[in-house]
Amino acid sequence: MQAQSPIQTRPYNREEWSRGYESLREEFDYPIDEIEGDIPPELQGTLFRNGPGLLDIRGDRYQHPFDGDGMICAIAFQDGKAHFRNRYVRTEAYVQEQQAQKILYRGVFGTQKPGGWLANAFDFRLKNIANTNVIYWGGKLLALWEAAEPHRLDPKTLETLGLDDLDGVLAKGDAFAAHPWVDPDCNGETRLVNFSVKPGLSTTITLYELNESGTVVKQQKRSVPGFAFMHDFAITPNYCIFFQNAVQFNPLPFALGMKGAGECIRFRDNEPTQILVIPRDATRPIQTIPVYSGFVFHHINAYEQGDTVIVDSIAYDALPAPEPGQDYREVNFEAMAPSQMWRLHLDLQRKTVLRERLDERACEFPVVHPNRVGRPYHIAYMGAAHEPQSNAPLQAILKANVETGDRQLWSAAPWGYVSEPVFVPRATSDPMVEDDGWLLTLVFNAHESRSEVVILDAADLTRGPLARLKLKHHVPYGLHGSFTPEVFA
Ligand code: FE
Repeated sequence: MQAQSPIQTRPYNREEWSRGYESLREEFDYPIDEIEGDIPPELQGTLFRNGPGLLDIRGDRYQHPFDGDGMICAIAFQDGKAHFRNRYVRTEAYVQEQQAQKILYRGVFGTQKPGGWLANAFDFRLKNIANTNVIYWGGKLLALWEAAEPHRLDPKTLETLGLDDLDGVLAKGDAFAAHPWVDPDCNGETRLVNFSVKPGLSTTITLYELNESGTVVKQQKRSVPGFAFMHDFAITPNYCIFFQNAVQFNPLPFALGMKGAGECIRFRDNEPTQILVIPRDATRPIQTIPVYSGFVFHHINAYEQGDTVIVDSIAYDALPAPEPGQDYREVNFEAMAPSQMWRLHLDLQRKTVLRERLDERACEFPVVHPNRVGRPYHIAYMGAAHEPQSNAPLQAILKANVETGDRQLWSAAPWGYVSEPVFVPRATSDPMVEDDGWLLTLVFNAHESRSEVVILDAADLTRGPLARLKLKHHVPYGLHGSFTPEVFA
């Protein structure tokens, strides 16, 4: 008789996947010497990544990875060599908790202080965890978290220099979102465009535009009715577009110490999303167009076509959230609806919307060529599931031509779990070619219990990695990052 072994039907293993959520406590600084393949010598610059590095304190786990303390990784490329460094953002709360070696703050996504609801009730302090994105702009390296001020870091050493108020623009406690866009051509200049949201019974959105030296050159405030939870937005030369998803916020369980503030948000799938089209010219009025869009965290890109604005996004059927008290590492992927690429055609004259699905494959963390931001484009890159249908962890990098329907995929299944890809254009490339360059992504290699930096040829993902740079340790699943041509080694 033969022993029955479980039939392997999935390209992933949940237990292996969940090990990518172990804390990385150490801080490293070393040249990467274990490399399969060759780093393209023209690839020069620094990849910065941010994400929750610490997911527990002395074994007391945070309830959700979004509550994890921000840890920055910097991978510098020069002359075919690479250097790795990681460092925690020394936020006020991180320093206090590391000294005390216990959880002192509640997290937005459900982390509670020890001692039950009595120990947590009426504690409304926010822990600025600086864990969502990292950008190098105007000579400053900034770690971003959407509900508070950015932290400024030394781009060479990653040492925390303190909170940054954008040269006096932000008041104490003001927010600066974690999803800025770089407009590639604003009267011949590049501009960083970002926002902040002040939620309440009505919501105030502030838009900021920073010139290349990092100075805020344009700022406007707009108020819209109702509560809003908006993580990202999209830009075009004339507009900023927000999806005000239909959500309801009941603060009572938060106030009483029973839930995190983020756990008190409920998605109302029987109500439409309000699409807010805000002109970058502050003298022009907002347009609001309702549409059933599903829940959207991230936008791929947007552009104008006469009176129509096209917005491409990654949409979920509903706000994805684990059941209260459930361990996020035990998520049942197959039971959840996949996040997919959708396109909206917003007719600003007639105030009508056409909605079409661009692909069925589960995906997240989209990116486009920096020159195509806000402009007509063909190619989007993103993390994706290995299989074309059904929901699963991100194991592949997808290159999607949103016009022709062409697809290319590189998959790290069954050993690997990918993070957001970052597209780096070749310095000498034709600025109109959308795939002359490289995709950089950190992959958790579950079979070796460590991470690697994978470099793909964006022109042809099917070639497989040009290089796999093996790190000496794992890097917990991160969120967002960016690339600068400056080498900080
Ligand atoms: Fe995000």
